[in-house]
Amino acid sequence: MSLDRTLKMGMVGGGPEAFIGEVHRKAARMDGGIELVGGAFDINPRKSKQMAKILCLDRKRCYGNYEEMIEKELKLPEGERMDFVTICTPNNWHFPIAKACLEAGFHVMCEKPMTLTVKEARELVAIVKKTRRVFGLMHNYTGYPMVKLARDMVKNGDIGKVRKIVVQYPQGWLATALEKTGQQQASWRTDPKQSGASGCGGDIGTHAENLAEYITGLKMTDLCAELTSFVKGRKLDDDVNCLVKYNKGAKGVLHASQISVGEENNLAIWVYGETGGLEWHQEHPNYLYVKPLDGATQVWKRGNEYVGKYSDAAGRATRLPSGHPEAFLEAFANNYVNFADTVRARITRVKPDPLMLDFPDVNDGLRGMLFLETLVASGKSKQKWTKFKK
Ligand code: NAD
Repeated sequence: MSLDRTLKMGMVGGGPEAFIGEVHRKAARMDGGIELVGGAFDINPRKSKQMAKILCLDRKRCYGNYEEMIEKELKLPEGERMDFVTICTPNNWHFPIAKACLEAGFHVMCEKPMTLTVKEARELVAIVKKTRRVFGLMHNYTGYPMVKLARDMVKNGDIGKVRKIVVQYPQGWLATALEKTGQQQASWRTDPKQSGASGCGGDIGTHAENLAEYITGLKMTDLCAELTSFVKGRKLDDDVNCLVKYNKGAKGVLHASQISVGEENNLAIWVYGETGGLEWHQEHPNYLYVKPLDGATQVWKRGNEYVGKYSDAAGRATRLPSGHPEAFLEAFANNYVNFADTVRARITRVKPDPLMLDFPDVNDGLRGMLFLETLVASGKSKQKWTKFKK
């Protein structure tokens, strides 16, 4: 049985001056199967209610806070009530809001990093299991078709056994003390109480970690890291340099930075196997470079029939023909498509197709928090090489 209505989306965070909330709203609604019905959009209840006007929503469903949202939504009949809640607040709020929503019966799409601590992350894994709700984590870079293609090429053995992974995420926007000017996004990101134990590592290092594990299917086991706060007076790191050991003998380098002047969102990855290499750049996401041991480097281009023929997941994540670029919004939307199809399958009690399950979840969130715990421990330690805890 299929669901003959749109899924009803609620949102916590994403108020008038917020960044990523609007990206979620656009991406979730790109394919028409999801309808935004309300939310608790801002830490300031007045601003949350203002969003009703800005977004043309029912005023009664723009709430003062998430507790009120849960209480009042539960009084609505199923089908009218929110089916899922997207959380796009600063990091310190992710855990309490996700816990409350899941326990009240809502499915959840949450921003990264999933929680503030590994303890909270483990608790959330248990809550998701117990409540049997669908939990998506917005590691949006896994939503790109050419990332899915790279993942499938590694899985099919096209580059042989993976030996080395180089992954980077340099930015330059925090090269000065922007937080001291009151800039909203910089202020909470540099505050350990709202951001967590690592600034740059939590904000973008986790994306690099997730991308490397997603494409290769390998797991990081040990880190040797140096975390630096270059900007005077900043409490959290703004630069991360790290050597990585993976299971199955692979090695790698991960660096993330917010003081690399001139860089914007230069996330990129190089994967080297025994018989070939792969290279992908987030700022040019429609191309995947494939480098066979004994042949010329190939450029695989998104939107061509050969991509969909090779990878069902990449084909499913493609909307436009080649040459019409797809990027950030579409990658977010791809995670929403798979998440929403899985929610529909749960509501109608059918088994989801494996392709639908291709979105980061609560276990990826736990991996991210283990990465951060190990990164910070290694950064502080004298012996440097530090193992992931089990
Ligand atoms: P932001 O400061 O622009 O927006 C945060 C919003 O949350 C604001 O409207 C604020 O008022 C609201 N808020 C704070 N506490 C709240 C509460 N208790 N209840 C309701 N609303 C509350 O921050 P941002 O840059 O949009 O980042 C938000 C989250 O998204 C962070 O966790 C960040 O790591 C993540 N993020 C992810 C990506 C990505 O590419 N996946 C990109 C940017 C940010």
